[in-house]
Amino acid sequence: MTILLPTSTAGSLPKPSWLAEPETLWPAWKLQGKELDAGRQDALRLALDDQLQAGIDIVSDGEQTRQHFVTTFLEHLSGVDFAKRQTTRIRDRYDASVPTVTGAVNRTKPVFVEDAKFLRRQTTQPIKWALPGPMTMVDTLYDEYYGSREKLAWEFARILNEEARELEAAGVDIIQFDEPAFNVFFDEVNDWGIAALERAAEGLTCETAVHICYGYGIDANTEWKKTLGSEWRQYEEAFPALQKSKIDIISLECQNSRVPMDLIELVRGKKVMVGVIDVATDRIETPEEVADTLRKVLRFVDADRLQPSTNCGMAPLSRDTARAKLNAMCAGAKIVRQELGVNK
Ligand SMILES: [Zn+2]
Repeated sequence: MTILLPTSTAGSLPKPSWLAEPETLWPAWKLQGKELDAGRQDALRLALDDQLQAGIDIVSDGEQTRQHFVTTFLEHLSGVDFAKRQTTRIRDRYDASVPTVTGAVNRTKPVFVEDAKFLRRQTTQPIKWALPGPMTMVDTLYDEYYGSREKLAWEFARILNEEARELEAAGVDIIQFDEPAFNVFFDEVNDWGIAALERAAEGLTCETAVHICYGYGIDANTEWKKTLGSEWRQYEEAFPALQKSKIDIISLECQNSRVPMDLIELVRGKKVMVGVIDVATDRIETPEEVADTLRKVLRFVDADRLQPSTNCGMAPLSRDTARAKLNAMCAGAKIVRQELGVNK
């Protein structure tokens, strides 16, 4: 039976404090070598357990094996020099020390495939795996080899496609590409960003998703949001082309956001993962608040295409807060399912 309003998270969940520095975006590992490998697997199982206990329908690894959603992927590629770091501006918003592209980029070995197989063995529920999108990868490093963001994006798209095909073969049901850069570089999105994304998803038979958001609840993002005015219309730039794209699911931010909800109409026909949990506050939503957002969104998304989710990853939150938010999301979805006449 197909579940109505299947719940999921946008991706990351907090890591246990014995594994990594808690409530930090780029946390240092506290273990090393084989202990780190075992610790990451244990953390993945705990993250899965939190999701199952809350009643999440489409589960993930909670990104427990990665330090950061982009750099961990880059670490597995040749042509990227992590010893040669440059300070660069990320998404036009904050400076970060990033690695340098010094030669042709290639995937020398699978990145997350063993982790995905491990997750697959733990559960029979549908699983979703997040990868960075090509444009967001380009925006998270310094390039001194290709001399063109577009050229580098196409190389990353090819590499991501190799990884995605192996994830699919490992039993992943939904592959999600994270493209927060789509909310910033509008000309590039329509010139080559969406085309590169489709290249990354080429030939996949599992479902594909793109996650576009206003970022984690970190200070740089909170400050940036203050400059965006009373209505955030960024989605208006990418959504028309995404509606026509081959990507199956659009994951977007909604709860407590200033995104006008009617912009969701622009991707009518697609499945929509709607953020009903605000990741930029420790305040826990009530189930009724979640239900209220879902009811409003149902004006723009058909019920059988709507998937409640979180606005973004929850890595920087405490584990208690993240668990409580997962519970609230599932309870809110349950209320609306009952209203729609579906018992679950
Ligand atoms: Zn996000």
